[in-house]
Amino acid sequence: MNETLALNSEQLAENIAQVQRQIARAAEKMGRDPAEVMLVAVSKTKPVELVEMAYNLGVRDFGENRVQEALTKIASFHPQGMRWHLIGHLQSNKAGKVVEPFAYIHSVDSLHLAQVLHRHAEEQGKRLSILLQVNVAGEASKEGMSLEEAPGLARDIAKLSALHIEGLMTVAPLVEDPEEVRPVFQALYQLRERLRNEVTTSDWQHLSMGMTDDYSVAIEEGATIVRVGRAIFGQRLNR
Ligand SMILES: *Cc1c(COP(=O)(O)O)cnc(C)c1O
Repeated sequence: MNETLALNSEQLAENIAQVQRQIARAAEKMGRDPAEVMLVAVSKTKPVELVEMAYNLGVRDFGENRVQEALTKIASFHPQGMRWHLIGHLQSNKAGKVVEPFAYIHSVDSLHLAQVLHRHAEEQGKRLSILLQVNVAGEASKEGMSLEEAPGLARDIAKLSALHIEGLMTVAPLVEDPEEVRPVFQALYQLRERLRNEVTTSDWQHLSMGMTDDYSVAIEEGATIVRVGRAIFGQRLNR
């Protein structure tokens, strides 16, 4: 085994199985079909060899939060059927680079960014799947539009024909007890219900919410996409 990977294939398989069991438990508790919940394995800071190992174990969706790091990995590993998700902040000057390689952009948080993405997607002849990132708790340190501005922005962004709004995304505050962030997930769910009524040109099928410490609670509150890093790939040394 390559020492620098710090995780062998059996350990990785066990981590993935454990996360899948926990997803199934949370979904079944709510009478939901576990297959409705997409697992995005967050590989940021981890070597592409681990991505490849996870792919070989059946994982198809991978998330990265930094554009340059992601593009380097995607250039070296992007087999058929694999989907890369951009889950971190996107600067509009990098928008042209993300249209082709990513299946989903989770972090659209302004009309300006949406307009730039739309223009690039149109030029590249692709309809780009996006999620609107909402800063539900209003934390100054977090990206995302506020709950208050979301409906207005959603209406404007929905008019951009080269973008396909698939739903909403949030990053919950870091807390000791995941029960503390349940209201954050409930608020995103409620916003989605409202947008379903008010912006009917988009289908609002996805709620991307829940990470290693809180994905069970997120699924109980309606998450359709969970973004899980540490529980799959182990602790990160930095970031
Ligand atoms: C890092 C990251 C995750 C995964 O976090 P873990 O706690 O490792 O599961 C999910 N979403 C975003 C936006 C991230 O940056």
